[in-house]
Amino acid sequence: MSKKDKDKKKNAPEKNPNGGVPLALKVVIFVITILLTVSVLYTFVGLEPFLQDAAIVNAEAKIIDMGYKVETFFAKHYDNLYEVGKKLEGAEDEEAVREIVSSYIGVDYFGNLRYFNKSKVYTADGIEIEVASDEDYLPLIEASKSQTKSCTQIFRDKTYNEICVAFYIPVKGSQVIDGIGSIIRRSEVADLSNIIENEYSFIAVMESTSGKVMTSTYKTNDFSLGTNFFQAMESKVADASKYGKLYQAITSKSVSNTEVVFKEGPYVVSSFVLAISDNTYTLVGVAPRSLLVTQEYSFIVEMLVISIIAIFFLMICIFLILKMNKARQAQTELVLTHYVEIGCPNGKKFFDEAEKILNSNRTKDYCAIYFEVAQFQFISDKLGGDRTNELLKHIGTLAKNLATNTGYYGYDQQGRFYVLREFGGEKSLRSAVQVFTMLANKTNATEGTDITLSIGTGVCSTVAAGRVQISVLMENAKIAFRTIKKLGDIAFYSANTDKKLKHDADIEARMEKALADGEFVPFFQPKYNYHTDKVHSAEALVRWYNPEKNIYTFPFEFIELFEKNGFIKKLDHNVYIQVCEFIRASLDKGDPVVPISVNVSRVTAIENDFLDFYVRNKKKYAIPNDLLCIEFTESFAIENYDIIENLVEELHKNGIKCSLDDFGSGYSSFNILKNVPMDELKMDILFLKEGVDKKRDEVLARTVVELAKRFNMLVVQEGVETPVQFDYVKSLGVDVIQGYYFAKPISADEFNLFIKSNTSIKIKGGQ
Ligand code: C2E
Ligand code: CA
Ligand code: CA
Repeated sequence: MSKKDKDKKKNAPEKNPNGGVPLALKVVIFVITILLTVSVLYTFVGLEPFLQDAAIVNAEAKIIDMGYKVETFFAKHYDNLYEVGKKLEGAEDEEAVREIVSSYIGVDYFGNLRYFNKSKVYTADGIEIEVASDEDYLPLIEASKSQTKSCTQIFRDKTYNEICVAFYIPVKGSQVIDGIGSIIRRSEVADLSNIIENEYSFIAVMESTSGKVMTSTYKTNDFSLGTNFFQAMESKVADASKYGKLYQAITSKSVSNTEVVFKEGPYVVSSFVLAISDNTYTLVGVAPRSLLVTQEYSFIVEMLVISIIAIFFLMICIFLILKMNKARQAQTELVLTHYVEIGCPNGKKFFDEAEKILNSNRTKDYCAIYFEVAQFQFISDKLGGDRTNELLKHIGTLAKNLATNTGYYGYDQQGRFYVLREFGGEKSLRSAVQVFTMLANKTNATEGTDITLSIGTGVCSTVAAGRVQISVLMENAKIAFRTIKKLGDIAFYSANTDKKLKHDADIEARMEKALADGEFVPFFQPKYNYHTDKVHSAEALVRWYNPEKNIYTFPFEFIELFEKNGFIKKLDHNVYIQVCEFIRASLDKGDPVVPISVNVSRVTAIENDFLDFYVRNKKKYAIPNDLLCIEFTESFAIENYDIIENLVEELHKNGIKCSLDDFGSGYSSFNILKNVPMDELKMDILFLKEGVDKKRDEVLARTVVELAKRFNMLVVQEGVETPVQFDYVKSLGVDVIQGYYFAKPISADEFNLFIKSNTSIKIKGGQ
């Protein structure tokens, strides 16, 4: 990036803040996220041993739960058998026994009932079951012989064709039978396979003391039915001493939870003592430690993933909240520093930024530019809020362009704009401002209305005011603006500007009283008709008499100011009245009278009461028709093309003549000549100034004179000072001249004498 580009960037009017989170904050959030993630991971790693323990406890809890279920089932089953046994005590013969036993077929917790008599086993139908060859029943036969309760190991029952377990109880009070038994499917006792789902895990029920396995889920033969659990364990374990603890726990019939190291790896073995029958059984659960922990690990991993997702989610939330906050802050900031509706920095923002620019570019010349849209309130009332904003937005964009990348701009209510711009001399600024004011009117906002914007411009450069603060520069630009006399003009601040303003302020302080005291008096400048060699008429030109200094001040000192502050209307009216009085007095005295023209400012002429005032006073002073003439300037006539025609018409109706003053001084329009029936055309003094091409000037002047005459206008040349000029205008065909060559503006008394003497140029000594 070049230095120039850098400067550009630094000084560029900032774009609307978009509410982004600063990089530093983003980094902080990122680092916190990583730290939190690492700490969560670390915590889980630290917790791992506890989790392993928890896994083992969990496995043990499952085994204990299983134990209770098995125990409950066994107990219930025995209880039911004893209940049946009680009934059988009263059975008198085998017939009755069969009847009672049959009644329990299909009832829960009863299984398939048998009755035992003299070491033989019978079905409920009384059919004897051949047991000699079926050693599964032998424990029960043995039990019936010894009249003790007992149960078998599990076996495949032929009737059910399923793994079953059989129970026996003696029916001691019966004369008919020894006892009863039942066969129950193992699945009804407990579905052991569901406890730990792994082929290396198993659950076995065994005789606590002998270690004989009664039922087992183990897939291999190591712990199959009838095997000795302790022997099988011994063949599997790697560390006999550890196993010893388990052995002790089981044989001492206590609940235990032991880690036993098998040859194939560490296993967790839990035992639960089943207090059923006289023989105490033990339920043993065996599972590889790795399996238990893996199961818990999947839980850990899930937790980890969830936690990390939660952390990221939380951080994203924090990030978004910060972003939203930032955006809200930016919005507030924007409202405080900008006129949001028109997208333009406000005055405060302008002064802040402009000051920074001035401070960081001390070697460059800058200028403060103050713009004011004339009659802004009126325009904004007419356009309404939305279109006014559109208009201001448009001007704001132009102001921004005018400021360029190295300056700044701002809006400060009521159609006032500020611009700070690099100063490249008055000439280039003047043309830039001209483009600005011209483009300001090129907007849709005023389309369909007759609004034409006039934007006044005050400028103060660091060259004129020195290296001062922006507030001082802008204040000076405003001072320059106040010196503007013509709408839409531009004024540059200079050391004289202050003096001029003081002068204006002095005039403004005195004007009202001066008017009341009669200090404003008309002088009269006679106009000469060379055809008749007589005074043709006169123009009333105002003078301000200063009684203290006994001097007259000329209009150029105050007319512009009065036009700006509106006082001109009072002055014009006052001069008109004095002219009326003058004519009236002359008429009353019987003095000769000539038509007298009065000047009327545009400010006076556009007022609603204009016609009324001039017509009413003509009547009031009973001035005969055609003795009064009103001079409208050419620029007024062009700017107010739509009303001038009507004004002239009305004045004519009331016997007042009309003159088009200063013709040729501005953008002369032949249309005016054609369409507005003026009585007189006053050619501006410019026609007498020698231009580059004398011939062409003459052709133009001659054409104007001819044209005006064709439209029946009296042609008057102003400012004729010399005999040469006089001859020249005569040759053009001009009828009447006004100028020092014939007479200067003179006081009312002098003028009176002048007419009475019926002065001719010859008499005056001109020719
Ligand atoms: P204007 O209406 O163009 O008046 C003619 C100006 O030319 C007068 O200046 C007059 O003194 C001057 N003049 C006359 N003969 C010659 C000449 O041979 N050579 C030169 N160089 N100038 C000559 P003045 O009296 O200073 O008035 C200046 C302007 O002030 C007038 O220009 C007119 O626009 C304005 N003005 C004067 N009185 C009134 C008034 O009562 N109301 C208004 N609204 N404006 C007035
Ligand atoms: Ca005039
Ligand atoms: Ca004039």
